[in-house]
Amino acid sequence: MSFLIPLSDLDYGEEEVAAVQRVLRNKWLSMGPETKAFEEEFATMAGTRHACAVSNGTAALHMAFLALGIGPSDEVIQPAVNFVASANMTKAVGATPVFGEIVGLDEPTLDSTEIERLTTPHTKAVVVMHYGGYFCRMAEIQEICRKHHLALIEDACHAVGATCPPASASVAAGALGDIGCFSFFSNKNLVTGEGGMVTTNRDDLVEKVRKLRSHGMSTLTWDRHRGHAATYDVLAHGYNYRIDDLHSALGREQLKKLERNNQRRRELTAEYWQRLELLENRGWILPFRKLSAFSSQFSAFNHTASHLLPVVAPDGETRWRCADELKSAGIQTSLHYPFIPGFTAFAGKESRGGLDKSIAFCQRIITLPLYPTMTVTQVETVSGALIAAALSPQPSASITPTTH
Ligand SMILES: *Cc1c(COP(=O)(O)O)cnc(C)c1O
Repeated sequence: MSFLIPLSDLDYGEEEVAAVQRVLRNKWLSMGPETKAFEEEFATMAGTRHACAVSNGTAALHMAFLALGIGPSDEVIQPAVNFVASANMTKAVGATPVFGEIVGLDEPTLDSTEIERLTTPHTKAVVVMHYGGYFCRMAEIQEICRKHHLALIEDACHAVGATCPPASASVAAGALGDIGCFSFFSNKNLVTGEGGMVTTNRDDLVEKVRKLRSHGMSTLTWDRHRGHAATYDVLAHGYNYRIDDLHSALGREQLKKLERNNQRRRELTAEYWQRLELLENRGWILPFRKLSAFSSQFSAFNHTASHLLPVVAPDGETRWRCADELKSAGIQTSLHYPFIPGFTAFAGKESRGGLDKSIAFCQRIITLPLYPTMTVTQVETVSGALIAAALSPQPSASITPTTH
């Protein structure tokens, strides 16, 4: 079915078409000069020493775990409210994901106190996810990770271009931990179709990632093409997680639009919050809205990436009924995310309890349409439809005839 208002949409124009044509005319399709330029430009934006482009966000997470030497018998603390990629890649390296609770239904990011609760002698790393483009409480999390000598990985797939302002200079998503992971999948803030990036300030980590990205080989095809090397050695058992120059060329164009598009997402978010405010007195929650009222140490609204527009319904039943009514009105919604420990492949095994808020969030969350080319009129339409659905009188259980 095609929707009147989709969940997300691309901001692609003639620039992206020209960028792909540039690569086609140049006839170097695999990882080459466009990728090198994309990495340099991305590192400048993120403020990290290094950026290493990879084939997708999941590959970025896999590389991060491998570069940090995480493997069998290691535990990785991570939020239960996340896309499944981080948990799956934890399993892929033979380690155990340990799921932590969120701060609250209005702030669905990993609660820093969970790190202390869940740390064991096996804990090697913490993955944080800046849900919806809004930062986790990074100052607290950084301090706890330092104290317990845990590596800190940012799953920054929602937060490309977001900056976390401390007192002095602001630091971008992907520069706050040991290693940052990004995705450029079609519904993200920076889109190449498939694509991803690993960012880090650590020379030792980027060296490992670059090696593992391309079969563990000591030199690249591009280097050999330019006569810089004649042969290669294999230094590690690597993968093929390379991006290609077509995707990198798209990424460079999208990078130029990033700040403008993130700003547009924030404007549309503020519109939504204003229109949906009246639902807050009726059991609904607008996550992160408090950030617009007062900025804090860990996150200020005017620096977020506003990737998603999540709203939390009073209960699961209302959530599904309202999502159905929006669908009938031609409005696409989604659910970020189903509860990871509830998936068949994870069922029960990794959960150490204490996840009531995460479970409630996953049952009650509706993700509303949000994309930079969206109009204020469309925000009005979606908000109006949600309010109508939320306030429509429901058949009450008390009028159902009973038999006793
Ligand atoms: C999109 C996404 C990923 C996975 O990225 P892919 O490019 O689809 O592999 C991982 N984590 C989060 C939070 C994401 O949003």
